[in-house]
Amino acid sequence: MKTENKFEFQALPYAYDALEPFIDKLTLEIHYGKHHKAYYDNFIAAIKGTEMETMDITDIFKNISNYPAAVRNNGGGYFNHTFYWEGMKASGGGLPTGKLSGAITKSFTSFDEFKKQFSDAGKTRFGSGWAWLSMDDKGKLFINSTPNQDNPLMDLAEKKGTPLLVMDVWEHAYYLKYQNKRPDYIEAFWNLVNWEEVAKRYETALK
Ligand code: MN
Repeated sequence: MKTENKFEFQALPYAYDALEPFIDKLTLEIHYGKHHKAYYDNFIAAIKGTEMETMDITDIFKNISNYPAAVRNNGGGYFNHTFYWEGMKASGGGLPTGKLSGAITKSFTSFDEFKKQFSDAGKTRFGSGWAWLSMDDKGKLFINSTPNQDNPLMDLAEKKGTPLLVMDVWEHAYYLKYQNKRPDYIEAFWNLVNWEEVAKRYETALK
C-alpha cells in the first residue's frame, strides 16, 4: 500500500505472545499498538509539510537540535521502538557470534562483564529511557543510556554512535508483569536478544 510519506509503521516481527513468558502478550499489545503507534502518528504530524518528510531519519537525528521537541520525542519514540522490536525474538538469547563476539570480549573483557554493564545502564537510568550498545566513530563499542526518547544518533546525545542493541526501560515496557521490579525485566531481556540481528547491525556499521 502506498502511503503519503516515506516513514512506515512496520509490523511487529512476531506475534504478541511470541516473547512469553519474558514479555507478556498484553504488555506487547499495548506497547506496540498504543505507545509505539502514538509516537509514530505524532512524529508524522510533527514533520508534516516540512523538509523532514523526505529526509532519512538518521539525517533528522543528526540535526535534531534544530527541530521542534515534538520531532525529537516522537521521532525518537518511533525509531527506538522499531529498533527494540527487531533486536528481540522468540527463543533468543545465548551468546553473540562472529566478529561481534570478539568485539564484545575485546571491549568489555568478557560477555558476562558486558551483560553486567549493559544491565547496570538500564537499572541506573533514572526515570524513563533506554540502555544502548553502540559503536563510536573510531569503531569502539560502548554502553550508555539515554533519557526519554533520545538515542545515540542525535546530535545532542552525550555520547554519539551507531546503535547495535537497545533495551527499553520505560515503565510501560515492563510494569504490567514486573511492576516496580525493573531488574527482573532486565534479567528476562537476555532470553530475548536476537544476536543474529545485532551481529548484522555490527557488520553494517563496520562498512
Ligand atoms: Mn517503550
